[in-house]
Amino acid sequence: MAQPQQRVYQAWKGDNRFFFGGRLIFGPDVKSLGLSVALIVVPVAFFCVFVARHLRHQFRAYDAGYAILVVAIVYTIYVLLLLFTAAAQDPGIVPRASHPPEEDTHYDSLSLTDTPGRLQFPRVKEVIVNGMPVKVKYCETCMVYRPPRCSHCSICNNCVERFDHHCPWVGQCIGKRNYRYFFLFVSSSSLLCIYVFAISALYIKFLMDGDYPTVWKALKHSPASLALMIYCFIALWFVGGLTGFHTYLISTNQTTYENFRYRSDGRPNVYDRGCPSNFQEVVFAKIQPSKHKFRAYVQEEVRAPPANNSGEMEEEQVGGPRAKVGDDLDIDDLFKISQRHDHGDNDIEMGGGNAN
Ligand SMILES: [Zn+2]
Ligand SMILES: [Zn+2]
Repeated sequence: MAQPQQRVYQAWKGDNRFFFGGRLIFGPDVKSLGLSVALIVVPVAFFCVFVARHLRHQFRAYDAGYAILVVAIVYTIYVLLLLFTAAAQDPGIVPRASHPPEEDTHYDSLSLTDTPGRLQFPRVKEVIVNGMPVKVKYCETCMVYRPPRCSHCSICNNCVERFDHHCPWVGQCIGKRNYRYFFLFVSSSSLLCIYVFAISALYIKFLMDGDYPTVWKALKHSPASLALMIYCFIALWFVGGLTGFHTYLISTNQTTYENFRYRSDGRPNVYDRGCPSNFQEVVFAKIQPSKHKFRAYVQEEVRAPPANNSGEMEEEQVGGPRAKVGDDLDIDDLFKISQRHDHGDNDIEMGGGNAN
């Protein structure tokens, strides 16, 4: 009996939520995204109506008063687009394997050393990254060895590459593929706070220069300005603090997750390539395409090694020695890293780096 064919997003094992037929992927807590949007849009609407509108004719030359209004609206749209881009795409989910690895003898050439495991295969392996041993853990849920810097998000129930954290405000994991947009969103939000605060303060000053000679009288005339300045001041502590923290993380090539772990473990950071290269890696390097085609049809599982069935759907492919680790690309990456180490070349491409 032929069942109607399912698409990948319909058979998805993670806890993500899909919209528009699998074109958009969010975390399970996507609703909180609405709150984040409201926290941006409502104050900006207040700002436009109660502050910027009154400044339209303040600067007679060049229509600068109108520019204040237009900048506020256009810049807010830009911030919202960044938020949406960070929230609505694959953060770097590692494809699951359909069965656990069997007795594993294929790692010898990768200079990996096993530690005793519970069953037939080890739960932890070690791979050399930039001359330092890095533990590669097996994920019981996804049934793959996580590549370095990958972690399993308990909220989304996926392994995510270069996992930074699960952001409840974005309602999505922040990982290899959306960290750039997350960082741009946070830093742009800080600028928006500064802009709204500064223009509100400017409006109060104009009021004081006019009919309301004291600051109290001016604030009483425009309580919205006061409320906006207080709101932006508080918000700036939050988003400005995050911007500073993530600027530090990027400059040292750490994830939030690693930062907490390194601090508790006292482990060295093996990914640090120097501040300029670290920034280049996060801000300018090409973002790798998703490893999932959410709208593709689920392929029938074939146990025999498929000779001419490569590429399309890593998640669904089974058989052959490579499939034991679930994800060809990741183990290729590991292999390249260990090879590069042998050749004395310290470049690393894990974590949003150049395309392999
Ligand atoms: Zn996992
Ligand atoms: Zn998550």
